[in-house]
Amino acid sequence: MNLILMGPPGAGKGTQAKRLEANHGIVQLSTGDMLRAEVASGSELGRQAKKVMETGGLVSDELIIAMLSACIERDDCRNGFILDGFPRTSRQAEALDRMLKEKGMKIDHVIELTVDDGAIVRRITGRYTCTKCGTGYHDEFQKPAKAGVCDKCGGREFTRRADDNAETVRARLKAYHDQTAPVIAHYRKKGVMESVDGMAAIDDVTLALNAAVSL
Ligand code: AMP
Repeated sequence: MNLILMGPPGAGKGTQAKRLEANHGIVQLSTGDMLRAEVASGSELGRQAKKVMETGGLVSDELIIAMLSACIERDDCRNGFILDGFPRTSRQAEALDRMLKEKGMKIDHVIELTVDDGAIVRRITGRYTCTKCGTGYHDEFQKPAKAGVCDKCGGREFTRRADDNAETVRARLKAYHDQTAPVIAHYRKKGVMESVDGMAAIDDVTLALNAAVSL
């Protein structure tokens, strides 16, 4: 089963993709995570991407499409994948259509997590992850049971994303409305677009997603 998870930054795509991964044995392919790994490694690609990511803009389509194309053929994607953060422009959506056709693959569900713009800055500026295992937390909405200790792995180091500040979030939101809204229209036209209320509690969103993908 191959899925596309759409929605603005802070909609919960990463959190829900990890749960879908665990529940369905499919692999999360997050272009944002891939780019952050490139930045951390100090590669040329990472150096180029870092500048764009810091401003909240979008990295070039060519670069993203090449990166993603290599991923969907990976062995661990044989049961399926969840695209998180891709496609983000009409060109990426069209490139994905071509890529899938060439490889004889298809997307089974495109699901948009809907969230009010007003909630997004608060959601994003408060979030952080365990450095060791990647479990996500939030200053207000999802604290670890014991302050400063990861519930899952006991790790004591946490990381905040460099682009999770109020100013960059507003630019990311603008990029979403300007450049990613047409992607939603692209899938609506194909009749494969589904919507889930991303304002609901995390567990309820998971239930709604599980129901959507089992149809
Ligand atoms: P995300 O983790 O999905 O919020 O992505 C973080 C940042 O990485 C974005 O603000 C963009 O600068 C860049 N990025 C991630 N995915 C894409 C994509 N599909 N196209 C262009 N830029 C992307």
